[in-house]
Amino acid sequence: MVIVLLGPPGAGKGTQCKRLAEKYELVHLSSGDILRSNRANGTELGKKAAEFMDSGKLVPDQLIIEMMVGAIESAKGNCVLDGFPRTVVQAGELNEELSRKGKKIDAIVDLIIDDSVLERRLTGRRSCPACSAIYHIDTLKPKVEGVCDKCGKKLAQRTDDKPDVVKQRLETYHQQTAAVVGYYTGKKYRILDIDAEKSISEVTSLIFAKLDNLVTA
Ligand code: ADP
Ligand code: AMP
Repeated sequence: MVIVLLGPPGAGKGTQCKRLAEKYELVHLSSGDILRSNRANGTELGKKAAEFMDSGKLVPDQLIIEMMVGAIESAKGNCVLDGFPRTVVQAGELNEELSRKGKKIDAIVDLIIDDSVLERRLTGRRSCPACSAIYHIDTLKPKVEGVCDKCGKKLAQRTDDKPDVVKQRLETYHQQTAAVVGYYTGKKYRILDIDAEKSISEVTSLIFAKLDNLVTA
């Protein structure tokens, strides 16, 4: 099963993908997490990606496609994709890769949210550099301030969650990523629109309800 989660930065893709992965027994593949782990490990890919990430721009398609094709292969095509595809070129390559493997996208979820909500979501986000758990200083606080509930490591603010980079990331989304929705509707995919301004658990329930319908349809 392959599920794709779309939506702007801060919409809640990572938060919801973790829950989807658990419920439907899928591997959560976050392109951002994979890039950050490459950077932490000092790989060539991590070095090439750094300047794009730090300035809120997209990492070039070819690097991302190679990285994600490998990850999807390791997940044996049972995955929930978070942050990929982010361009129409990536979406086309994903389709080709899946059809080569005799697979297809089973569901596309689009998290709909206004830009005005996103800035606070992103600047208030705190993440665990060790296990990628996601928190928020207002809406999802860890039990002990600044410490990851899951692995006990110190939480950090992502450097690209600072206000000036956040602004650029939202621009990048509107200029390059929003068109991915049009790519899929043009190909007659059904997109499951979700109101992502509701609380985390309400959004989870909305997604589960739509996906359960699809699975049992
Ligand atoms: P994305 O992966 O789309 O960039 P995240 O899942 O990392 O977004 O969420 C961004 C921030 O917003 C995190 O701090 C998260 O805790 C918080 N968040 C996610 N979903 C909601 C929600 N429905 N309501 C309030 N805060 C949320
Ligand atoms: P994220 O963790 O999804 O917010 O991604 C963090 C950063 O990684 C983005 O701002 C981009 O610089 C880069 N990135 C993640 N996924 C992609 C992608 N599919 N295409 C291009 N760049 C990406």
